[in-house]
Amino acid sequence: MTKQWTAARVGLFAESVIREMTRLNNLHNGVNLAQGFPDFDAPAELLQAAAKAMRDGFNQYAITWGSPRLRAAVAEKFAWYNGVEVDPDAHITVTCGATEAMMAALLAIVDPGDEVIIFEPFYENYGPDALLSGAVPRYVSLNLGDPECGFDPDQLRDAFTEKTKAIIINTPHNPAGKVFTRAELSLIADLCQKHDVLAVTDEVYEHLLYDGRKHVSIASLEGMAERTVTINSMSKTYSVTGWRVGWAIIKNRDVTNGIRRAHDFLTVGAAAPLQEAGVVALGFPREYYARTAEMYRRKRDHLLGILTKLGFRCVIPRGAYYIMTEFDALSSADDVTFAHSLVKDVGVATVPGSSFYHDPSMGRRFIRFAYPKKEETLAEVARRLAKLRTTAKLKS
Ligand code: GLN
Repeated sequence: MTKQWTAARVGLFAESVIREMTRLNNLHNGVNLAQGFPDFDAPAELLQAAAKAMRDGFNQYAITWGSPRLRAAVAEKFAWYNGVEVDPDAHITVTCGATEAMMAALLAIVDPGDEVIIFEPFYENYGPDALLSGAVPRYVSLNLGDPECGFDPDQLRDAFTEKTKAIIINTPHNPAGKVFTRAELSLIADLCQKHDVLAVTDEVYEHLLYDGRKHVSIASLEGMAERTVTINSMSKTYSVTGWRVGWAIIKNRDVTNGIRRAHDFLTVGAAAPLQEAGVVALGFPREYYARTAEMYRRKRDHLLGILTKLGFRCVIPRGAYYIMTEFDALSSADDVTFAHSLVKDVGVATVPGSSFYHDPSMGRRFIRFAYPKKEETLAEVARRLAKLRTTAKLKS
């Protein structure tokens, strides 16, 4: 008798396309504008703080739900930046990155068959996260043709059903760079309260804002702190994507306890010395955030200039660090073929647009570039992409 050795649940989704493109990039010696991580170092004080924490003996398990010092620092920052007061002992769980925070949050709140609303395009993890937790995803479209990447309020209203348990928000948004407005979040908040639904919001790009956009946390809206899981991490704000230190906050003891249980048995805890370094990071002077946003604004404008000149039609990001772009003027190939040719023939890795949609045909016209890269890396990308002009169309 033979058996199926792999469980059905891992057959529900495919390998991460973002991570696959990184591997392809390395194979072809490309410049990696696929996976969103910086090619420059984190602030020196932060690296010193991590080394010091190891020397000072923070090398064994931290408390499962997070070092008390880090949780205190997270609570303090959540109050001043996001406008919500929480109790670090009752409302915060430190996790291995925002990725684990999202998985633990969904495992804690979703029963198989419950529906979870996801704005589309979406960061590819949310699909598998929903499926692993047994949720049935329902999608609401963001209109990338609109400069604010808005959504249709009626489509959103219709997505809420008796079975809806949660809605996933990501602001600033990966991959579209949308920054949800207070009005949009208020509509979502009203619907959450009307239908008794939780909001799960991934705000890892909360400091990367351009063109005067302001970050609003849905947890700060009337009646939402108790029904919102706010997810964040050190990765993007402090340029330490490999540290895997994130957290989930909800001003609700029961849900926090659920998240802590899921987290405890998934990973026990995040790296203890890096949590201590996190205390230093979260205590950076406030001008660090303005400086970081300005650095990324320059990179955005640099890459937008390069792409626009070549004929790409870009969705202008108002936040985060990605550019979704149409490439119809350059190739009639589909997104996967075009992205594969770009990495093989031109040496620049991107992410095919289809990996951000549940129905691949919806992303066929797009690829995504990530720009947390040194100016010289972006200049090298410009040199490589110039080939597109001379070799004209890539294979279609
Ligand atoms: N969030 C980043 C991206 O979208 C990195 C994802 C990952 O590989 N963890 O590229």
